[in-house]
Amino acid sequence: MNKHKYMEEAEKDLLHTYKRYEIILDKGDGVYLYDTDGKQYLDFAAGIAVFALGYNNKEYNDALKVQIDKLLHTSNYYYNLPAIEAAKKIKSASGMDRVFFTNSGTEAIEGAIKLAKKYAFNKSGETGHEIISLNNSFHGRSLGALSVTGNPDYQKAFGPMIAGVKFAEMNDLDSVKAQVTDKTCAIIMEPVQGEGGIHPAEMEFLKGVKNICQENDIVLIFDEIQCGMGRTGSMFAFQDYGVDPDIITCAKALGCGVPVGAFAANEKTASAMTPGDHGTTYGGNPFVCAAVSKVFDMFQSENVLENVKEVTPYLESELDKLVSLYDFIKERRGKGFMQGIEFSVPVGDIILKAQEKGLIIITAGKNVVRLVPPLVITKEHVDEMITKFKSAIEETILSTEKA
Ligand code: PLP
Repeated sequence: MNKHKYMEEAEKDLLHTYKRYEIILDKGDGVYLYDTDGKQYLDFAAGIAVFALGYNNKEYNDALKVQIDKLLHTSNYYYNLPAIEAAKKIKSASGMDRVFFTNSGTEAIEGAIKLAKKYAFNKSGETGHEIISLNNSFHGRSLGALSVTGNPDYQKAFGPMIAGVKFAEMNDLDSVKAQVTDKTCAIIMEPVQGEGGIHPAEMEFLKGVKNICQENDIVLIFDEIQCGMGRTGSMFAFQDYGVDPDIITCAKALGCGVPVGAFAANEKTASAMTPGDHGTTYGGNPFVCAAVSKVFDMFQSENVLENVKEVTPYLESELDKLVSLYDFIKERRGKGFMQGIEFSVPVGDIILKAQEKGLIIITAGKNVVRLVPPLVITKEHVDEMITKFKSAIEETILSTEKA
């Protein structure tokens, strides 16, 4: 197969929104991926925090095959059993009361914003409410989600953004308080910021934000799209803090490979929505919901959370040893299997060198290497990652320094 010919075709046919690596991935097995030349890669990216259970998992694949042969889609005019089951499992894992299924994380954010606005509208009979989000956050690329994303570079060509969005700083409660007005309807934040460079919220900050919301009847939205579904060692990151939101958004590992997201809310907030307020054709169809349902079952049967809890201290201590070796690495930060290593230089070349060595890692901003592996990795996979990562660092940076 002429790999370069296919890549040229792709560049001709697809919209130029991604700068892709020169790899055509072909199949996956466990925590390894294989390209069309048969080269093996240890995957510490999991399709950006998606493939929690690893690739080619027979039980998961079989459940999807059964549902394909039964019924793929119904529309939301009718009930379907997989959606009912999947919703129950999300409720029981999150403590939320009602679920709306979407097709992506971005759409879950859109729905959460609309729900918060409707809640505020029902109270006051007025529109024009404000939302507080955080700098450095990422919530998606559609206009609503982009409007609450704290990264002006992503927004600048697409204005105007939706009105009334204000930004505060992660872990700076005073900056949040300063943005609250009698028009504020929601505060939206990731308990652990992902794309922005892996920044976990501090306990006091999250508790403080919750207090602000309670005192002012503001809807608290936690975006758990990246940090949820077991990544931090709890089913949802907010459970590590013991701070309950009014709405959560979820996607990525929720379907472990099929495109599905959800927002879920407590009854007080959820009851603001009435028929006609929101909808989607594909959202919550039997196919994706069969996947969601199986994912929750397998998180239990495969002890996924226990594995994250058990391997995390080893992953962190091995990464800390690596960090201490080089003065051009600033720090490691993160929670569970969501780790960021901040360098004082751009990391693009390290990512490429790691690929050469058969390791897939990704960035979170220019200077941060992000590790979000499948949740089923073992200590042996950590060792393999460290060996490959270390030699990628040394061959890239130390050779540049010598030159
Ligand atoms: N929110 C967070 C925290 C994310 O990490 C992402 C995607 O990376 C999104 C929202 C958008 O989700 P999606 O890409 O599924 O639309």
